[in-house]
Amino acid sequence: MSGAAAHDLIPAPRAVETRCYIGGEFVRGDAAPVVVVNPATDLPLAEIAGASPSLAARAADLNAHAAREMRALPILKRVELVRRLAAGVRNEAPHLAALLTAESGKPIVESRGEVEYAASFFDNAAAAAEMAAGELPASRTADRRVLVLREPVGATFAITPWNFPLAMIARKLAPALAAGCSQAVKPAEETPLSALAFARIFDRVVREVGAPTGAFSVVVGEPPQVAAAFITHPGTRKLTFTGSTEVGRVLAAQCAPRLLRTALELGGNAPFIVFADADIDRAADQAMLSKFRFMGQTCICANRFLLEASIAEEFLARLEARVKALAAAIGDPTLESTRMGPLINDAAIAKVERHVADAVARGARVRFGGTRARIAGLADRFHAPTILEGCDPTMACACEETFGPVVAAMTFRSEAEALAMANGVPYGLAGYVMTQDADRLLRVAEGLEFGVVGANDGAPSTAEAPFGGRKDSGLGKEGGGHGLDAYTELKYVSLRVRAGS
Ligand code: NAD
Ligand code: MN
Repeated sequence: MSGAAAHDLIPAPRAVETRCYIGGEFVRGDAAPVVVVNPATDLPLAEIAGASPSLAARAADLNAHAAREMRALPILKRVELVRRLAAGVRNEAPHLAALLTAESGKPIVESRGEVEYAASFFDNAAAAAEMAAGELPASRTADRRVLVLREPVGATFAITPWNFPLAMIARKLAPALAAGCSQAVKPAEETPLSALAFARIFDRVVREVGAPTGAFSVVVGEPPQVAAAFITHPGTRKLTFTGSTEVGRVLAAQCAPRLLRTALELGGNAPFIVFADADIDRAADQAMLSKFRFMGQTCICANRFLLEASIAEEFLARLEARVKALAAAIGDPTLESTRMGPLINDAAIAKVERHVADAVARGARVRFGGTRARIAGLADRFHAPTILEGCDPTMACACEETFGPVVAAMTFRSEAEALAMANGVPYGLAGYVMTQDADRLLRVAEGLEFGVVGANDGAPSTAEAPFGGRKDSGLGKEGGGHGLDAYTELKYVSLRVRAGS
């Protein structure tokens, strides 16, 4: 590909939004700019003037004010707002997908999938809000009734990652609005453009519906400063974060003095277990879905492949054939035919290289790939899909989340050993089990200490499921009715009833 073609990656036809969205207005930031770079080309996409601590504090004020307005908004209006946001996202799908690809390097086919995934969270939250009901538990005594009310949590603050720049906002914002909360978002510095494009959609829809304009905001800026402004603001009632375990711990500590409610979706280290009784072709197909989505940069991507020794070679041979085909589809992520784009940044590709080198130094073999893939005219940030065999649990690729296109394969000899290996990490987000034995499927699904289990399923994410991790992978659930609950406070009213005469 020529250098000139690389320029075509920028979605030039429509201007990108470079202002923050605060209190229902697009506001130019007053602090250092955040420069957004296309990871496939290294070309700058936009400069967004960041919000200073005082502008972020004003945004936190307006977010708290909007929460009071949202609380008063009838459920029917909240549902109308959320449904129209789903439609607004779908109407702008081509533009949003182009932005996602430009700022994250996600192959355009996957970016379209993300836009629809984002819209599905608005559908789901609207349905959940319509069905939401309080409780009237059976009274233990004749003289009392307990009325359980559902109330919105209030003003919420979200910090989102670069791997699903739009869908992670949708997964948090949709139930927040449906429950009657406001939400301010600090998007990842790598990917604020789709968030701001969505803010334009929100701005139009919220006015059409006549809902509080400040109910959603986007505050771009220095992450610790923006976070501190919201976390210390007395009006903020909840922090919801998706990102690394390391940053999640820091934020949880900052929230602790205020006893601020937290939802933390953190890193994973997903095991992908293939038993000898699995349908090996099907398992290889599911492995491709689980491992190579967005080049392995999702929190539920398989990280460790645990293969029953008797079928390890057969499985890897079938996987290799698929990986070889994938390797032929690396390149410009704006092309329909591309299945793998660049990694998000230099730190990401350095981590992949460190994991491959560490595994090889400790005796693993590179069965396929193992190196960068240089694409003429594009940035040096592409990595070949890679299979490492003969790995063991002490290697970096097995202890840490690689967050890249590397299959780290190791073997086991019994179900008990497989479960012990799978659970033998501090993480607990997603785990996968491939078997055709129904008894084993259920036993292993129950035995996995993970919040999400893909049972013969390499792509378990869906809007109606309660997504979330255990152990170092965080706390709280997003999606479905449980996602709505995360933005709901229960209150009970105890009514004393006098006996009639
Ligand atoms: P990160 O946790 O640093 O970034 C996630 C979000 O947190 C971004 O919006 C970032 O601006 C913000 N952030 C970072 N430091 C902050 C601070 N001190 N205060 C407030 N906000 C802060 O993740 P990363 O550096 O982009 O990626 C590093 C690793 O984290 C990855 O390799 C991967 O293992 C993991 N990760 C997981 C997910 C996930 O979906 N669970 C997403 C991104 C990254
Ligand atoms: Mn970071």
